[in-house]
Amino acid sequence: MKFTAMSFTCPSCGAPQKFSPTKGMLVCEFCKRETAIDPKNQPIMEYSFHQALSNLEAEESKPIEKEVSCKKCGSSFTLTPYSFSSNCPYCDTPAITDFVQELTPKSMIPFKVTQKDARSRFEKWVKSRWFAPTAFKKYLDGNESLTGYYLPYWTYDSDTVSQYTGLRGDVYYVTVTKTVVENGKQRNVRVQEARTRWTAASGTAYVNFDDVTVGASKSVSRAILSALEPWDTTQLLPFDEKYLSGFEAEEYSIGLDNGFEFAKTKMYFKIEQKIRYQIGGDKQQIHSVNTQYNNTTYKNILLPVWTASFKWNNKTYNYAINALTGKVVGERPYSPTKIFFAILGASGVVGSVFYFEELKVWINGLMVGM
Ligand SMILES: [Zn+2]
Ligand SMILES: [Zn+2]
Repeated sequence: MKFTAMSFTCPSCGAPQKFSPTKGMLVCEFCKRETAIDPKNQPIMEYSFHQALSNLEAEESKPIEKEVSCKKCGSSFTLTPYSFSSNCPYCDTPAITDFVQELTPKSMIPFKVTQKDARSRFEKWVKSRWFAPTAFKKYLDGNESLTGYYLPYWTYDSDTVSQYTGLRGDVYYVTVTKTVVENGKQRNVRVQEARTRWTAASGTAYVNFDDVTVGASKSVSRAILSALEPWDTTQLLPFDEKYLSGFEAEEYSIGLDNGFEFAKTKMYFKIEQKIRYQIGGDKQQIHSVNTQYNNTTYKNILLPVWTASFKWNNKTYNYAINALTGKVVGERPYSPTKIFFAILGASGVVGSVFYFEELKVWINGLMVGM
C-alpha cells in the first residue's frame, strides 16, 4: 500500500528538521535553526473501554507493509508493519505516515534522554556487569548507535470489586514433650510447637486503578516492556507529529482487548494484597476471587525508548533505555568461563560438574535484569 510521508522543513534553508530531546524543539540538521513546538491546548482524555470495543471492527487489521516515497530525494522504501515514523534510508529525511490501526494515539511523552546520555548510561550498566563476555564490552567500543523508538502502550483505569472466599490462619502454640538424646542419655524436654487454626473467610475487596500501563508492541519482549516501568503518565502531552520527527514510531500490534488481559494480571497483584490484608491473621489462603471491572477507560499512548541489540553465540540480546527516566533494562549475556573461574577462585575447589549445573539454573534465572 502506498503512503505519502510528511516531514518538517527548516524555514531558513529547507533542510529537514528533527525533534531535539535537549531543546524540546525542532532543530535543523543543516543550519541549526530552532523552531519551537507550541503545545496543543488539549486535555489528556480517558476513553470508554467498552464503547471502543463495541465500535472496533471484529476483524483485527492485518499488518501491511507501507510503501513510502521520500519527499526530499524521491526514493521509495518500505516501512515494516506497524511502523509509522522512520527516516529515509538514502538521505535520512524523516518520514511520518498515516496510521493503519483504528485507534490512534492521542497523547505521548516526548524523548527527554538524549542518545548520547542513553549510551553512556548503557555503557555504565554493561561495565557494572562483571560477568558480561569481553565481546560485549568490545561491541560497545565500536560505534553502534542506539535507535530511538516511540513504542505504543495502553493505559487502563478501572474500579474493581472482587468477591473472595478463603481461609484465615491464626498461629497458636502448644507445649509438647519430646525425647532427646544428650551425652548418650535419653531425656524428656517440653517444647513449644506452632499450630495453625484455620477459619473460613470471605468478603469484598475494592481497588481503584489509575493508568495501569501495558506495552502494546510485539517487537519488544514483554519482559523488557515491563522492566522499563514505571512511567510517569503525568508527563503526557497531546499527540503531535513534530515530536516524532527523526525517530522511529510504531502503532499497536496488541489490541485494546488483549492489552486489557495483561492489565488484569497486573491488577490482580494489588487485588490479592488487599484480600490478604482484609482476611488478616498470620496466614491466608485464597480459594476464589471473582472480579468486576467497572468504569474502565483507556488511553492509547506513545512512550520514548532507546533500543540496542547485541548478537553473541548465535543469540540476539536486546536492551532498552527508558528515555524519560534513563532506566536501563535488558537480557545480559554471561560468560560461563568468567563465572566458573570466579567461583574456583572464591572457593578454592577445583573442577566440579556440580558447579556447572548450579550455574545454568542461576544464569537462567538472571537473564532479564535491571
Ligand atoms: Zn536550516
Ligand atoms: Zn530520501
